[in-house]
Amino acid sequence: MSDNVVNLRQVTKKFGSLTAVNNADLEIERGELITLLGPSGCGKTTTLRMIAGFETPTEGVVELNGNDVSDVPPYERDIGMVFQYFALFPHMTVADNIAFGLKMKGVDQSEIDDRIEEVLEMVSLPEVGDRYPENLSGGQQQRIALARSLVVEPDVLLLDEPLSSLDKKLREEMRMEIMRLHRELNVTMVYVTHNQTEALAISDRMAVMNDGEIRQVGAPTEVYQEPAGEFVADFIGSANLVDGTITSNTDSYEIATELDVDITAGPDTSVHDGNLEDGNSVTILLRPERLSLQSGSGNGTNTLSGTLREVTYLGSSAEYFVELADGTEVQVTSPVRGTIDVSPGDEVTVSFDPDAPILLGDQ
Ligand code: ATP
Repeated sequence: MSDNVVNLRQVTKKFGSLTAVNNADLEIERGELITLLGPSGCGKTTTLRMIAGFETPTEGVVELNGNDVSDVPPYERDIGMVFQYFALFPHMTVADNIAFGLKMKGVDQSEIDDRIEEVLEMVSLPEVGDRYPENLSGGQQQRIALARSLVVEPDVLLLDEPLSSLDKKLREEMRMEIMRLHRELNVTMVYVTHNQTEALAISDRMAVMNDGEIRQVGAPTEVYQEPAGEFVADFIGSANLVDGTITSNTDSYEIATELDVDITAGPDTSVHDGNLEDGNSVTILLRPERLSLQSGSGNGTNTLSGTLREVTYLGSSAEYFVELADGTEVQVTSPVRGTIDVSPGDEVTVSFDPDAPILLGDQ
């Protein structure tokens, strides 16, 4: 038997004429933390709600532990949920909030008391059982919401943008907390976010969605280094994208581009499906951190000349925006500002090694 906790099999959800989720296939393994990542409106929450049972697929099947759950209502699915807004019951103490699900399951009071103590320790808030939610900070309320959903030991924990109402520092702290809980409890988590950094940091695997479709599923490094296409390349991290045509593919790829320069790419740089032949169109992805910048104009293969337009200092790195002769903008990221002596308006050269380009194909 497969050890998948959740399987989506060709799941489609329509709301009238709008297709919110289109033919999604996804297998979620026991114990993994998988994020559903994509821009607003791409169908992440709808996917999560179908797993929970709050929405019914228009087509396709949701399986939990190998069983089709089409006829199983949400409260009979072994699932916990944490939302963006904490959704604690305001008229109940923290302890009563946490006890709620256990009481519904008919657990005895002495066991409930033990479990509350244990779970409050787990979320590092051992002292707050008697308080009311309004007397807790946002971050503390979200920890309690986590505690409330973990205490019933669900098979899957669904988290819908759980950190987006917190400020940056608290968000990072809570992110670590969720990673720690995931590691310690080994609970399967499905985590919805539109925040790329959060998804890259937290995921075992990520499913990148756009327009209701799952575009790629993979580990963060795989999705970043071998994006399935232009959308994923551009959505995860920063991307310079250049269209080109293969002119030779002997030892490496020689590519004529829309820019006034030829590009050489090493033999292992293609993530295009199938072989690339002479005459094929490709989209070349150049990640800004794989490019280097020099002052003065240069020429040759893998060398782009232009004018520096802007430098953005980011603390640990700096971003340089270079405009090429045809108006194309290229972004270069360099770890330390000041190592390159250039100012806006200067002529500059952007260059890169043959193993820097990623060839995406023409999709
Ligand atoms: P966000 O990040 O903004 O929450 P999302 O990726 O979670 O977006 P969904 O909430 O799943 O996206 O919505 C996908 C599409 O389905 C959107 O166009 C949304 O307007 C639409 N939609 C969602 N729920 C309903 C509904 N109950 N009735 C009609 N349309 C809906």
